Amino acid sequence: MALSKSSNTYGRTAWEDAEFPILCPTCLGDNPYVRMMKEKYGSECKVCVRPFTTFRWCPGARMRFKKTEICQTCAKLKNVCQTCLLDLEYGLPTQVRDQALNIKDNIAKSDVNKEYYIQNAEKQLSATDSGLPGTSGTAGGKMQSDMLVKLARTTPYYKRNLPHICSFWVKGECKRGEECPYRHEKPTDPDDPLADQNIKDRYYGTNDPVAEKLLRRAATLPRLDPPEDKSITTLYVGNIGEKMLEKDLRDHFYQYGEIRSITIVSRQQCAFVTYSNRAAAELAGEGTFNKLVIQNRRLVIRWGKSQAKQGAGTTAEGAHYEAVPGLPKALPHPSELESSYYNSGAANADYSSQQFGPYGAIPNADASGASYNYGFSNFAPVGIHYPSQDPTRLGATSKTKPT
Ligand SMILES: [Zn+2]
Ligand SMILES: [Zn+2]
Ligand SMILES: [Zn+2]
Repeated sequence: MALSKSSNTYGRTAWEDAEFPILCPTCLGDNPYVRMMKEKYGSECKVCVRPFTTFRWCPGARMRFKKTEICQTCAKLKNVCQTCLLDLEYGLPTQVRDQALNIKDNIAKSDVNKEYYIQNAEKQLSATDSGLPGTSGTAGGKMQSDMLVKLARTTPYYKRNLPHICSFWVKGECKRGEECPYRHEKPTDPDDPLADQNIKDRYYGTNDPVAEKLLRRAATLPRLDPPEDKSITTLYVGNIGEKMLEKDLRDHFYQYGEIRSITIVSRQQCAFVTYSNRAAAELAGEGTFNKLVIQNRRLVIRWGKSQAKQGAGTTAEGAHYEAVPGLPKALPHPSELESSYYNSGAANADYSSQQFGPYGAIPNADASGASYNYGFSNFAPVGIHYPSQDPTRLGATSKTKPT
């Protein structure tokens, strides 16, 4: 079966091997040496009710044992995991996948037809070992859907394999304490896709509450609106990790138009992609927002900030600071103090560095400000804002006291 060339590698499990179950990476777990317990015809398939070879395994430390629920034929027909019944490529419920790709399967649901259909399907599967008779190969083919890409899992979700919550503990009645194999936690995980679901509904993609929730979420996915300032042609790219190279980004972003520059800020694990023109930047924003996955990382896409706005905060020149009522006035610039205060001859050099040293960066006060009457010549406390500014306060040397 041809998997699409997207960088999403969630479902790339080798499932041709009949000695091994068809599993999604989440159900398989993170242990590469997982021990499979195989039981020939160990159970009935929950969809077609025929006996099939079951597998049981532990998907990782402190995880619960999992087992296959449906037969391999049924799994192949829908391209789903034998255990969680989620799509193998996207990790999504079949209802979401089929709606997004507009797949209409012709899998028979009545018992008689189903038997016949499954037998035919099995013949086809063994003859070609490719394509899904039920879905005409569309699920794994080249078809792409914006919505699927946005909703798809990019990495396994191992939390789903945790033990179930201890129902006794929830009622305050579990006496097993540490030994209890179940989870002692409040049941706050409504995202558990297996919570109370009819496995057939899930398989056929009907009345699947998780699917409905995902589809609702898809309808309200946030959008990235281009900023009004048309001079902005830069996109911020976040969550790039440590190993992302400029080339990796360029390979994805070049398709939207000419790139002027790509700057990687490794310390913040982000990058800035600047286009030569606005149209290209808008295309790129639309094409990547919420769906660009590189190296299994879903990148965060935002618009860059306006140059004018960025500048305003850092330079005092041209910026206007409104006086906030009720607060002390801004401290005067040291140069002003030198002319009014030090020229009075009443001060010593120590005083200046103690008082105004830390305020070296204060913006230049409005030159016309008649309010900055500090009156330091006679030490009248007219312009004193803070006790520490008062030369007459405790600790000041006696020679600076007014006479
Ligand atoms: Zn089956
Ligand atoms: Zn699974
Ligand atoms: Zn318990």
